[in-house]
Amino acid sequence: MIEDVDGNILLDLNAGIAVCSTGHSHPEVVRAIAEQAERLLHYSASDFFLPIYAETCARLDRIAPISGPTRTFLTNSGTEAVEAAIKLARHHTGRQYLISFIGSFHGRSYGSVSLTASKARYHEGFGPMLPGVLFAPYGGDGPGYIEDVIFKRLAPPSEVAAIVVEPVLGEGGYVIPPQDFLSRLRDLCSEHGILLVADEVQSGMGRTGRMWAVQHFGVEPDIVLAGKGIASGMPLAAMIARADLMTWPMGAHGSTYGGNPVSCAAALATIDLIEGGLLANAERAGGALLDGLRAVAKRQPLVGEVRGLGLMIGIEFEDAQTADAVEVACFLRGALVLRAGDAVIRMAPPLVINQAQVATGLRIFEEACVDVGRVGPKAFRRAVGPHEAGPEAPETA
Ligand code: PLP
Repeated sequence: MIEDVDGNILLDLNAGIAVCSTGHSHPEVVRAIAEQAERLLHYSASDFFLPIYAETCARLDRIAPISGPTRTFLTNSGTEAVEAAIKLARHHTGRQYLISFIGSFHGRSYGSVSLTASKARYHEGFGPMLPGVLFAPYGGDGPGYIEDVIFKRLAPPSEVAAIVVEPVLGEGGYVIPPQDFLSRLRDLCSEHGILLVADEVQSGMGRTGRMWAVQHFGVEPDIVLAGKGIASGMPLAAMIARADLMTWPMGAHGSTYGGNPVSCAAALATIDLIEGGLLANAERAGGALLDGLRAVAKRQPLVGEVRGLGLMIGIEFEDAQTADAVEVACFLRGALVLRAGDAVIRMAPPLVINQAQVATGLRIFEEACVDVGRVGPKAFRRAVGPHEAGPEAPETA
């Protein structure tokens, strides 16, 4: 639950864009932050040994979806983790090309935005992008396109450093790929010495009911990127790589703040909570939410496909205007949800959501759909500062 500036209590089905995994100000996370803050706020781990940084890396090593040993680089944000992966992949392989997917979102700094292809506006006015990035369709046609078009006509596989993929599309619309998509990418990577980078900044840390979304598909990446839910809202993200890939020399990459001790303390408490029950709850509550939304879709003609894994759920509407209107109608009735993709509402609640809250969320969502169906989407245009947003709604991540 969250209280806005006017004192309205809102059911949070958004978690600060899939971040507040343990809910808001979970007492155990707050305690860990406070204890760490009393001891040490900062001492850059790029040049000095910070035990809690090492402890966080060791913890991530234990839960990483990579069977051999891993090494981890901690950053402040998802986009920095993506940058680190781009640099490591190029450095380790000595190759230049990177393959990403239409519809994907990886961040807004130059490397990560160059891999992003969810909306043209992320590139608008910023070109040229990083050279050497090639795009394939996300989903069933992707692996074939990589073989038949990219490898044959654009870039030999021997010059491709990495395939970077979201196991479930996040900002691009909460799209779940076909079951064999990731394993086909894995095969291509293994055959050609290409690194498979799973960007789990949004889908990881228990959100899908498994610690990592790749675990739904039985695939091991070479590098996995975590962020958002990793530290309950404190700025932290991670690039977790197979240990043998970390062949770059000391100082090749670094960060003043990345792996800040207070964020690390929050991450350790967060991982305890995720492993200690929230993972199971994400699966359980996610199943109930998904079933409930599918039932709503049957009753409400406005609602199209409902899809999801755990608590990463997308609801498709006819058009962007309708999706935006439902977002606003939900807000007016007391629930926070967020647009994604072209015409999708995403639900990514904190992993602590309980049965009663699921029921309330379903009720509010259905009422919001009824509202929009009754008076039309135009009545619910959301105001953004002095402007009206409508289908050109502000972008989220
Ligand atoms: N990768 C994915 C899959 C994301 O969803 C996001 C943000 O939404 C990012 C990377 C960038 O993370 P940040 O906004 O923390 O830089």
